[in-house]
Amino acid sequence: MIMKKNIAIALMLVVVFAASGMNAASAQNLAPEKIHSAVDQVAPIIEDTALELWKHSELPLVEFKSSAYLMKILEDNGFTIKSKGTAGVPTAFVAEYGAGKPIIGIMTEYDALPGLGNEPVTSKEPRKDGVTSGHGCGHNLIGAGGLGAALALRNLIEEHKTPGTIRVYGAAAEESEGAKVYMAREGVFNDVDAMLHWHPNSVAGLWYARTAAVGMLYVEFSGKTAHAGLEPWKGRSALDAVEIFTHGVNMMREHVEPTARLQYIIPKGGVAPNVVPDFATVKMFYRDIDRAHVEKSMIWLKQIAKGAALATQTETLAVDYFGMYDLLPNTAMANRMQQHLEAVGIPSYTNEEIAFAKEIQKSAGVELTGMTKAVTPLPAQVPTMGGSTDVGDVSWITPTMGTFMPTIPENIGVHTWMATSCHGMSIGFKGAVNAAKVLTATGWDLLTDAKFLAEVQAEFKERTEGFTYKSPIPDIIKEPVLLPEDMKKHESVVELKEYFKKHAHEEGF
Ligand SMILES: [Zn+2]
Repeated sequence: MIMKKNIAIALMLVVVFAASGMNAASAQNLAPEKIHSAVDQVAPIIEDTALELWKHSELPLVEFKSSAYLMKILEDNGFTIKSKGTAGVPTAFVAEYGAGKPIIGIMTEYDALPGLGNEPVTSKEPRKDGVTSGHGCGHNLIGAGGLGAALALRNLIEEHKTPGTIRVYGAAAEESEGAKVYMAREGVFNDVDAMLHWHPNSVAGLWYARTAAVGMLYVEFSGKTAHAGLEPWKGRSALDAVEIFTHGVNMMREHVEPTARLQYIIPKGGVAPNVVPDFATVKMFYRDIDRAHVEKSMIWLKQIAKGAALATQTETLAVDYFGMYDLLPNTAMANRMQQHLEAVGIPSYTNEEIAFAKEIQKSAGVELTGMTKAVTPLPAQVPTMGGSTDVGDVSWITPTMGTFMPTIPENIGVHTWMATSCHGMSIGFKGAVNAAKVLTATGWDLLTDAKFLAEVQAEFKERTEGFTYKSPIPDIIKEPVLLPEDMKKHESVVELKEYFKKHAHEEGF
């Protein structure tokens, strides 16, 4: 039964390929204006989606309305939802249009940040509807622009009878435990021939940089409580253990390579000074140039936790609950995408928009230069960055390239209320439309120019020789640790403790 079906599909594909061979060859030469107008046709959908997701401003892992909104539009336009709640992330999804190879992936995101809610105005002004979260990183635009590129490519495929598949990834929760890493572990990127993505920024340039790999460590210490004045000798302070742990981290900092970054917070450190704290926690992000460096740090950090527990007669649980790879560049794809970026250019702005941008700059106390005026050239060398992205994991599985498009004025950073403002009005929406043009043009080349795709894949093969993707998430973690308790399907805390006991020896405890 299965074999027969496969043969039937194979035959169908042969017919499709044979029939469309000529179209595909001529389609390669589509003029840029054709591609840009395919995006202009769906621009109203991009703008509506950008605004809708901005209004929702849902936090990571609970972006139910935003992901449903994107899936509905995709379904209405002939895409099939292949998976919902993908890889244990309730708001992740995979949608697909077309048939056969090549499979071109497009990444969407749609999570907002806490505390960054703002009216789309040039001063700091809480939203009238009471929503306190905001799209300060512009993931509403990533969702809308990615969707727009997918719809434009779908229309081009249909018009030119081109073989190939457009796969849209609903990559939820980029700001916390990025769904892409869970999705990567599940293997949903394995058959993708090339992946496209974009991110809002103040510049128009490619995401042609090596970001840092990151590990995330949760450490808890359990001690014994007692009256801190009357009988302190009966207590064992979990906070003391935290203090020794963080001191150890700061000593370690002195002897790691300059590329390392070690940062922590202390979410729980006790409740009152006259009560010996019996429970305290630390959360850490540790970054470095690649996974190998990060994994070395992870072992050391866990040893420090163990040492702090021994010194204070407390118990510790230290779990590397999440991590991300560094971003692997692809020069062949970058060169082509850069050409498309230069052809698309930066959006043209009205006088009102430029005035808005300058008012935002005034609020931020930076020079009143407005929006960027030129596309940034591709650097000769791949620069390294201290930040991380969950696109990193994808980039080690399939050739991946992304672009930046201006959505905020010059010298304004993302993760600010100023960015939230711009991402909820026409400056941001125009950025999403232009980004969709760059992705569509590059996607069309990947679909129809077999020589170009082969170059992209050959470079990827060379860069990843001898490499096998190993998820940074331990097997024991079945779903995001930060999922709200009522959404969890796994008793993660109990399982984590078991994991700790079992693996303590191997990991250097
Ligand atoms: Zn972001």
